[in-house]
Amino acid sequence: MDVKTATPPIVQLEGVAKAYGGAVALAQLDLEVRTGEFFTLLGPSGSGKTTTLRLIAGFERPDRGRILLDGADVASLPPFARAVNTVFQDYALFPHLTLIENVAYGLRAKKMPKAQAHAEAEKALAAVKLAAYGSRKPAQLSGGQRQRVALARAMVNKPRVLLLDEPLGALDLKLRHQMQAELKRLQHDTGITFIYVTHDQDEALSMSDRIAVFSQGRIEQVGTPFDLYERPASEFVADFVGSSNLLGRALLRPEKIRLLPADAPVAAGEVARPGVVREAIYLGAVTRYQVALDDGSELAVMEANTVPLSDHLRLGSGSRILAVWPQSAAMTIGNQGEIP
Ligand code: ADP
Ligand code: MG
Repeated sequence: MDVKTATPPIVQLEGVAKAYGGAVALAQLDLEVRTGEFFTLLGPSGSGKTTTLRLIAGFERPDRGRILLDGADVASLPPFARAVNTVFQDYALFPHLTLIENVAYGLRAKKMPKAQAHAEAEKALAAVKLAAYGSRKPAQLSGGQRQRVALARAMVNKPRVLLLDEPLGALDLKLRHQMQAELKRLQHDTGITFIYVTHDQDEALSMSDRIAVFSQGRIEQVGTPFDLYERPASEFVADFVGSSNLLGRALLRPEKIRLLPADAPVAAGEVARPGVVREAIYLGAVTRYQVALDDGSELAVMEANTVPLSDHLRLGSGSRILAVWPQSAAMTIGNQGEIP
């Protein structure tokens, strides 16, 4: 991550605004992506993520503001002249062409000789672990394999920046996790800058060097996964990235709280609040509790099931407990300091 801070910006948006008819898609966007980063645009549906990608790719033009690639304004460049490639959720492969032909298509369009284009396509297919599938047609592949072909087709052009718009959205959970790891590896091995769009906070946290959180055409916060989770700049970020307890102005993550017997001793530097377990839901690796504190507030608590199960089963609903957390675990939103 420290290496990344030192790299120069590769994509910059300065004061970019975009409306469709009267509807504002992007209000006034400033964004800087550094060379070699895995950078994610995270936000709910309709928050402006795809619009931002389409502006960078050149499929849309901004109403206001500037977009720079490698420091140069790209306003006058059409999509094909920009050193970026896009991978969409719906693959858009040619059904009548083999995988090799699909991947080589862009190179052939740029007049690369067939033998050379096919050799490049074979390398790209090997990079996404489809070396043996080159002569197949898209219909003979699974959804995950088709998505890999789409990736190979984008990467064969050796773009400076790869734009990925919810590329794993159509895959089931297990395959999605597998592809997340593979995308990470590909990005690392190729050094290509990735700008990745998702509405899935787990996906964003697990893959990204940095994340921009979008809400209603604005960026709420840009930071590392750690920054967003541990130091959210707004209630929106605290809520959208992970789950959280809001105690007045303080944010407390469920996994930082422990539930102890009502008469347990409390260590210095810890906050302890008495209450009652309302609900205990066993989820395998963790148990999730809903706790009603005596002061009237509600707490969500998450405990890892790392100790013998009997210790967790002891806390059924109705159990009187002490909810305990380190003072330093309660954060003020939009502030670096802890609640005294
Ligand atoms: P996201 O990708 O985060 O779901 P979008 O960038 O697609 O969000 O959309 C942002 C806003 O702009 C939404 O309110 C959407 O309805 C609107 N919008 C996007 N594209 C168009 C379009 N071609 N015509 C009209 N409105 C659009
Ligand atoms: Mg979108």
